[in-house]
Amino acid sequence: MSGRAQASAGELLELVRSGRATTRGALQQVTGLSRATVGQRLDRLFRAGWLREGAGGPVDSPLGGRPSITLEFDDSHAVVLAADLDTRHARAAVLSLTGEILAEHGGTLVIEDGPDAVLGELGRWFAELLEKAGHRADEVCGIGLAVPGPVDSETGRVVQPPIMPGWDGYDIRERLARAFGEHTGAGRVPVLVDNDANLMAYGEQRTGYVDCSAFVLVKVSTGIGAGVVVDGSIYRGIDGGAGDIGHIRVGTDALCRCGSYGCLAAVASGGAVARRLAESGVPAASGSDVRDLLTAGHVEAAALAREAGRQVGDVLATVVTLLNPGVLMIAGDLAGTPFLTGVRELLYQRALPRSTAHLDVVTSRLGERAGLVGAGALVVEYLYAPGRAEERLLALGV
Ligand SMILES: [Zn+2]
Repeated sequence: MSGRAQASAGELLELVRSGRATTRGALQQVTGLSRATVGQRLDRLFRAGWLREGAGGPVDSPLGGRPSITLEFDDSHAVVLAADLDTRHARAAVLSLTGEILAEHGGTLVIEDGPDAVLGELGRWFAELLEKAGHRADEVCGIGLAVPGPVDSETGRVVQPPIMPGWDGYDIRERLARAFGEHTGAGRVPVLVDNDANLMAYGEQRTGYVDCSAFVLVKVSTGIGAGVVVDGSIYRGIDGGAGDIGHIRVGTDALCRCGSYGCLAAVASGGAVARRLAESGVPAASGSDVRDLLTAGHVEAAALAREAGRQVGDVLATVVTLLNPGVLMIAGDLAGTPFLTGVRELLYQRALPRSTAHLDVVTSRLGERAGLVGAGALVVEYLYAPGRAEERLLALGV
């Protein structure tokens, strides 16, 4: 074996979870560890309840000889909580460690009420959801939260969020962990916070496009934001600002919620389309109202959505030229045919043919659940990453 450090139990778990090596023989082959050492490390994972033998029975060993028993991540030892906050609505869920939604709730939660009230209420939702899912609070290993603003992922705090008044710099992790404890009696659990478009992109990429090494999701609802997943990880930039395309200046006169004029979000978001409809006498106040009108086949809403799509498509031509993604996914309230048609019109007209030759422009697969699935996956990847898995095994005494 080379001079590289020997693979830890956490690294063996990672190999099994990713499907790269799922038998004892394959683990020996990939890591260069002896049969005995692999056995000792797997034993720690079995004792922690993190690994089990697969139900599929023995498969042929890569080293020849006796068929091997397959190994798999045992997702029954813990659950994850996740929530996705929008400006006036939120969703929350209990998820298995492999991303299955076990219980889910959606309801009104107004972000302008401020972080203390919103996160306190979310703690109550989590307590109810756990009961509904038949799980105890001490089975929760972590909480993931998606918010509609830029997030400093080091601190979990939002940074100058245009549509989250009162949240700037607030300690979301501390408040949500405390709210969860108050409503369930459970101890502290880790809380991870990220931008909603980032987590939607992560959720969609991991469940539907695992082989896509450059994935972009654009959420068009009250605001406009993009999430970028490169080589399986969220790309956040150095300050968490990557993908915040809603405040690129494209016009001159429309006042944006960020205080500037002419932002993309001020002219082409669900909120902007709703405002134009309202000006011509159609009752619409939000992106979700526009979605309802589009579903009902409203002609003027469709025309405005297509025009909004063209304006977003113009900006996306630059995004696609810079990143050369394999998939560009359109999600959020406006993600339907008229908007997508508009995006395609401008995107293919303005971007270099080479940047779009292998590009799939698609709509969301997970819909309103994308942020929840992404938030749950972020927590699992954080807790079971090799280094942290090793620390947690030691803390468990195995
Ligand atoms: Zn703006």
